[in-house]
Amino acid sequence: MLLEYTDKTNSVTDTELLLDLQRVSNETGKQSLTIAEYKEHGRYDPSTIIRHFETWNKALSIAGLQISNRQYADRELFDNLAELWIKIGHQPSRRDLSLFQSPISYKAYERRFGKWSVALKSFVDYYNSQESLEVYQIEAKPNTTHKTSRDINLRMRFKVMSRDNFKCCSCGASPAKDPSVDLHVDHIKPWAKGGETVIENLQTLCSKCNWGKSDSLNA
Ligand SMILES: [Zn+2]
Repeated sequence: MLLEYTDKTNSVTDTELLLDLQRVSNETGKQSLTIAEYKEHGRYDPSTIIRHFETWNKALSIAGLQISNRQYADRELFDNLAELWIKIGHQPSRRDLSLFQSPISYKAYERRFGKWSVALKSFVDYYNSQESLEVYQIEAKPNTTHKTSRDINLRMRFKVMSRDNFKCCSCGASPAKDPSVDLHVDHIKPWAKGGETVIENLQTLCSKCNWGKSDSLNA
C-alpha cells in the first residue's frame, strides 16, 4: 500500500458536518445537541464545526436542529474562560471568544453575568477564592509514596501560569506575543522522582522547552 497524504484542514465539507450533526441528533433522539453530547457521539471535532459555521448555534440551525439556550454552570463558564486565557496568554476580551472559537459563546456569559466586565470580575474572584484552592489537593492513590496526584488540573494550571505571567520560565515565550506558542505546566522536580503536584514545584514552560527538558532527562 502506498502512503497517501491526507489534508486534514480541508478534508471535511460543510455538508458532511451537517449530516453528521443530523445523524447524532437522530441516534440520540435529541432535537438540540450540546458540544459535549456531540463530542461523545460525533465523528468530527466540535472545533471543526465551529470553524466552518462560526458558532455552534449557527451550525445547529443550518442543520435544522434546535438552538440550545442552556444555562451553563458557573464552573463550566469559568473553566472555559481559563482555557481561553491560557491559550491566548492574556485576559480575554469579549471579542476573543469568537476570534478564538470558544465553545461557549458570549451570549451564554451575557445571560449569566449581563456584562463581560462582570463575568471577568467574577472569574477572578473565583480563582482567588478558597473554593478554587480546595481542589488543589487531590489525594494520590493509596500505596504510592506521593501526597498528591500527578495530574495537574485546570485550576492549578491556571494559577501557575498566572503567577508566571503566562510566559515560559525558560525562554520567556508567550502566546500573547506569538500565537503559535503553546504553554504547559511542568513539575520542576519530576513527579517520577518524588516531586509533588504543588504550586511551588510547578513552572510554566513552552512546548519547545518542555520537550528539551524531557530529552535531557532521558539522556
Ligand atoms: Zn520556552
